[in-house]
Amino acid sequence: MRTKEQYIDGLRKLRRNLYLDGNKIDRDDECQRHAINTMGATFDAVTDPELEGLCTATSHITGETINRFCHVHQNTDDLHKKQNMTRALCRKVGFCIQRCMGIDAINAVNAVSFEADKLNGGSTEYHKNFLAWLKNFQTNDLVGSCAQTDMKGERLKRPAQQTDPDMYLHVVEKKSDGIVVRGCKLHISEASIADEIMVVPTRALGPDEKEYAVAFAVPADHEGVKQVVSIHNFRDRTHFKKGFTSGYTDSYIIFDDVFVPWNRVFLCGENDHGGICALLFALFHRHSYSGCKPAIGDVLTGLASLAARHNGIKRTSHVRAMLAEFIKITELGYAAGYTASAFGKPEVYIPGMGPIPYGPGSCIPHSIYANVGRCLTGEAVFEEQEMLCNIAGGFPSTFPHEADIVHPELQPLLEKYLNRNPGVPVIDQIKFWMFFADYTCTGMAGTMNYGNYHGGGSPIMEEIAITSQYDIKLREHLVNYLAGIEELKPGTLTSL
Ligand SMILES: Cc1cc2nc3c(=O)[nH]c(=O)nc-3n(C[C@H](O)[C@H](O)[C@H](O)COP(=O)(O)OP(=O)(O)OC[C@H]3O[C@@H](n4cnc5c(N)ncnc54)[C@H](O)[C@@H]3O)c2cc1C
Repeated sequence: MRTKEQYIDGLRKLRRNLYLDGNKIDRDDECQRHAINTMGATFDAVTDPELEGLCTATSHITGETINRFCHVHQNTDDLHKKQNMTRALCRKVGFCIQRCMGIDAINAVNAVSFEADKLNGGSTEYHKNFLAWLKNFQTNDLVGSCAQTDMKGERLKRPAQQTDPDMYLHVVEKKSDGIVVRGCKLHISEASIADEIMVVPTRALGPDEKEYAVAFAVPADHEGVKQVVSIHNFRDRTHFKKGFTSGYTDSYIIFDDVFVPWNRVFLCGENDHGGICALLFALFHRHSYSGCKPAIGDVLTGLASLAARHNGIKRTSHVRAMLAEFIKITELGYAAGYTASAFGKPEVYIPGMGPIPYGPGSCIPHSIYANVGRCLTGEAVFEEQEMLCNIAGGFPSTFPHEADIVHPELQPLLEKYLNRNPGVPVIDQIKFWMFFADYTCTGMAGTMNYGNYHGGGSPIMEEIAITSQYDIKLREHLVNYLAGIEELKPGTLTSL
């Protein structure tokens, strides 16, 4: 396994293909420092005694101990550990731990490449190639990002119906030694600080859309790949240092006729499996949210409780109701993920067929529980912000800048007037409200809310997954039995 320093050294060697605000930047540009430190926490974690066993796993390929973020889940215990690792590390950095896209993509592609080879009766070697790639990924402890979301152009048109066919990434040429792809993936988190980019389809695909059914991996600085980066940092602190300063990046990744050798192609033309690949990455990713979103809920609950305490309103009934709401959202999200882990199996739900065995035996979380948890916590994002706003009052939105707070002329006056609670040192109140403002009133907070709401798919996508996969007919039959319309069928009482 690598250290954080080795990871950063690796980034420094990558070709300059990052564009920010009209300039090309290095991987270790100052503006990426906090994002790199946040990712770095995933390397530090493997030697943290408190997290022992959580952040490492045994590779099913080599038998070696590897970073869990590079692991293919072999059983339900692995799923539980991924969820708990995610919650623990998101608590550590106070927000997103960033490395889940890679683990979620490798788990999806692992299953899909296996099934596509089966379909092709041995004429393709996607899975063998994927395992060879994965072995290198695990051994070198690489960071993966996942490029799923396409530009999508005209929203109500399928890929094949678009005016511009490049609105979904697709294969433009098949050669003897590889494929050429064109398109643009957007909002791709941490691609600018990753070693590898895994590409998977966005959506279900028809037989006329085979060129869009493509999954592959390329180095993040691969020839022809351009990243247009947006950086999300909190306002810098000089005087009032925080426990951890996290930072984030997202990229538009433009694939400008990029050549990908066959040994890095894991799916090419199998449209049914392309759709399943899209679904599976989303499923694994929604399961990851059952770790990260509860951790963010932990932070938000702490913010709400301390804001109420500092404002002297902790014992009011409306604050109690809001604290209960934070706890319900947080822990129901966690419980749904826990159940999705516990019911994990090597199978996927295919509409019209139900659950079917899928993949080489690796463990896939239960789709209904992963989706209901993600949907619940995603839809709550702006309600949570509203509750924080309610409890805080307007204070964080116009809070003085730190240089004013330490200005010799202003300091005694501001410390006098910013003191809302004589029972708490005013300096602690100041640090608290600055942190509160970070999470609620900054550009970064706005981006976080969008990510928390849309990441893993908009709520509508989760609603589609839930309603198309849930056994609603069983519930109709239950009512018909209770109403005396039908005889009770076997399995009705115990099926989920
Ligand atoms: C901060 C952040 C980080 C992200 N990180 C990643 C990442 O690392 N990797 C990745 O692949 N993706 C990532 N995403 C993308 C995320 O998965 C998408 O934002 C999400 O799937 C929604 O897609 P969209 O943004 O294109 O919105 P749209 O799909 O355009 O949604 C906009 C609205 O249009 C509606 N709509 C869209 N299509 C249809 C239709 N056919 N019929 C009816 N209504 C429709 C939607 O329901 C919604 O109401 C990230 C997003 C954010 C905000």
